[in-house]
Amino acid sequence: MRIDIATLFPEMCEAVLSTSIIGRARRAGFVEMYCHNIRDYTLDKHQRVDSAPYGGGNGMIMQADPIFRCFEHVCEEACSKPYVIYMSPQGAVLNQQMAVDFAENYEHLFIICGHYEGVDERIIEEIVDREVSIGDYVITGGELGALVLADCVARLCDGVLSEDVCFEDESHFSGLLEYPQYTRPQVWHEKAVPEVLLSGNHKLISDWRHAEAVRRTAEKRPDMIQKNEDKNR
Ligand code: SAM
Repeated sequence: MRIDIATLFPEMCEAVLSTSIIGRARRAGFVEMYCHNIRDYTLDKHQRVDSAPYGGGNGMIMQADPIFRCFEHVCEEACSKPYVIYMSPQGAVLNQQMAVDFAENYEHLFIICGHYEGVDERIIEEIVDREVSIGDYVITGGELGALVLADCVARLCDGVLSEDVCFEDESHFSGLLEYPQYTRPQVWHEKAVPEVLLSGNHKLISDWRHAEAVRRTAEKRPDMIQKNEDKNR
């Protein structure tokens, strides 16, 4: 999997994507990620990448051309056309299924981060395959969303997680939240770890975990239970 991020703040993205599990996976070659400064692709002698909106109104709009030139550069470098995502509060809201779809069906993603009042509509029409939102609220730039997306797609790629940190038991993978987890000490603040987890009986532990996953999903996210029921109808 290769992920390219087009942004006005590559250092912000690079800092996050060089850290912890994703940073290690990049260094080990399990995922390729590159952060591009859109400003490097403007032809403006003052390196401007934004301008006032036609028709008036607040704020500035990111111009189409520097983003397009950045995209063309990545296509040439990769010798292929990536699947293009624009981070936008107007997009489909990201969920685990969407991340699985990206990880399984696309080898190369190009993620555009907007800023200010957003991007010139024509770049969306020209190159964007999908608009993706991280939730029904507005933040100042697409970087945080792009990082969330890049992280949750990358951790699904082979080799990124070690085998003992498997994502298949985790919340949202199969429509449930994960069961409760405990670690040492066995008793903390007079709260003991559930007996069954100390039993060494794998079948009992697995049954208990499944029952807990169902119980807490019903408690915390009844909408997910409803969705599963609707799907199985
Ligand atoms: N004027 C735009 C609108 O009302 O739809 C919002 C622009 S927002 C201030 C600036 C940039 O932040 C957007 O271009 C987008 O890239 C990013 N952004 C803001 N909220 C987002 C969200 N919920 N999900 C993904 N990206 C978001």
